[in-house]
Amino acid sequence: MSTTSEYSFFQSVEKSFDKASKFTQWENGLLEQIKACNSIYSMRFPVKMDDGRIEVIEAYRVQHSQHKSPCKGGIRFSMAVNQDEVMALAALMTYKCAIVNVPFGGGKGGIKISPRSLSPYELEKITRRYTAELVKKNFIGPGIDVPAPDYGTGEREMAWIVDTYQSLKPGEIDAAGCVTGKPVSLGGVRGRKEATGLGVFYGVREVCLMEDVMKKLGLTVGIENKRVIVQGLGNVGYFSAKFFRTHGAKVVAIAEYEGAIYCADGLDEEAVFQHRKATGSILNFPGATNIEKSSDALEMECDILIPAALENVIDKNNAPNIKAKIIGEAANGPLTPEADDILSKKGVLVIPDMYLNAGGVTVSYFEWLKNLSHVRYGRLEKRFTENANINIINQIEELTGKKVSATERAVIAHGPDEIDLVHSGLEETMITATREIMEIWNANPTIPDMRTAAYVCAINKVATSYTELGIFP
Ligand code: GLU
Repeated sequence: MSTTSEYSFFQSVEKSFDKASKFTQWENGLLEQIKACNSIYSMRFPVKMDDGRIEVIEAYRVQHSQHKSPCKGGIRFSMAVNQDEVMALAALMTYKCAIVNVPFGGGKGGIKISPRSLSPYELEKITRRYTAELVKKNFIGPGIDVPAPDYGTGEREMAWIVDTYQSLKPGEIDAAGCVTGKPVSLGGVRGRKEATGLGVFYGVREVCLMEDVMKKLGLTVGIENKRVIVQGLGNVGYFSAKFFRTHGAKVVAIAEYEGAIYCADGLDEEAVFQHRKATGSILNFPGATNIEKSSDALEMECDILIPAALENVIDKNNAPNIKAKIIGEAANGPLTPEADDILSKKGVLVIPDMYLNAGGVTVSYFEWLKNLSHVRYGRLEKRFTENANINIINQIEELTGKKVSATERAVIAHGPDEIDLVHSGLEETMITATREIMEIWNANPTIPDMRTAAYVCAINKVATSYTELGIFP
C-alpha cells in the first residue's frame, strides 16, 4: 500500500480544518483553540513478556478537546502508532462527535504493539497496565475520558479495561461507563459491534437516495445493484459489506493485506470471512478471481469504494487511477490531502471519515447512557408498547370485522428491544447528519467538497459551545 504524503496525519487534519474555517465567521483565536490538542499523555511502561524478557511499551492517550465532557475515542494497537497519529485521530473524534451531536470532546489512545504477535496473556498485561497508567494520571473515567475499541482492539480489551478500572476505583457507581464497546455481560450495549459498519451503510445509502447528487455522478438512485469494493475485512469492513449486500448492493471485491478477490456477481462477506479463517488467506475463494496485489483492488471498476482499514491508502500515486464514483471513508484518514484534491477534481464524491464512520461513537454514546442510567434499553417500554399495540389491533378488528394474520399481528405488536432502539437511533443520527452536511454544502456552492462541508458543520458546533461558555465573544 502506498503511503506517501507531504503532510503528517495531524497536519492533514489541520489542513482540512484550515480549508473549511475560511467558510466560517469565527475569529482566529477561537479557531486555533478548536484545532489544538489540549492534553497529550505519552507514556512508557515495562511489561514482562512470556519468555521472561522485559519490554518497554510505548503508548499514548490524547485529549483533543474538552469543550464537552467526557473525552471520547478508541484505543488502537498497532506498530504504526505514534504521537502524531493519535493526535490526528483524537482531533477527528472531536469533529466526528460534533457532527453527529454526540456530546463528547475528542480523544484517542494508542499502544505501539503488534497484537497478532503477542499472546493473550501478554496483551492482557499490557492493556491492564495501560489502564492503570491512565487511572494514575486521571486520564480515564465516565466523566473524564472514555476509551473504546479501534484498530486492533475489541470487546476483550474493553473488558480488561473496565475490570482494571473497577478494581482501582471500588464503589464508583458509574464505573461501567469508563469505557465503551464492552461485552453485553459487562455493561455493553447490543448493536455496538456492527455500529460503525451499519453507520457507514446508512450514510452512503442516504447520499445514494439524493436524486441531484446521483444525477451529477451519473448513477441511479438507491443502493440496489451498486457495485461496491471493500478494503479491509476487519470489524468495520465486514459489517459494511454485510449491510451493503443484504440491502441489494453487490460487493464485487474484498481486499485484505495478503491480496484481494473479485467476483462480478458479488461476494458473501461471511463465506469469505470463514474461508480466510480456515485457510489463513482471502485468496483462492471458490468462484472468485485472485488479485495478488491488494492495492490493485482500489483501482478497479465500481460505483462505491469503501476503504475500511488504515490511513493513507489512497495517495497522489494511485488517486488518478481510482474508478469509483463514490468513496465512503469507513477508515479514519484513508486519503491523503493530495489524493483528496485529485479525486475532487475528477468529480469523485468522497464521503468523509469523520462523519461516515461516526456510527461507532454514536452507539458508544448509547452504551455510556445505558451505563449511567443502569437500565437496559427497552426494559421499561417494551411490554407497555406491545400491550398498547395489541389493544389498537383488537379495536381495529372489532370495528372493521376483519382479522389480521398471526404473523402480521406479531410484527405490528412488537415492542422495541434494545437492538431495535440502538439501530433506529443510529439510523436517525446518520440520516440527520448527512442532510445537515449536504444543506451546508448546498447553501454555499463555493465549498469545494463534502469533507469541507462536514468540517464547517463541526467547526460551527464546537465554536458555538465555546461562545456559549462565554470564553470567546
Ligand atoms: N474507534 C471508533 C472511532 O474511531 C469509536 C470510538 C468510540 O466509540 O468512542 O470512531
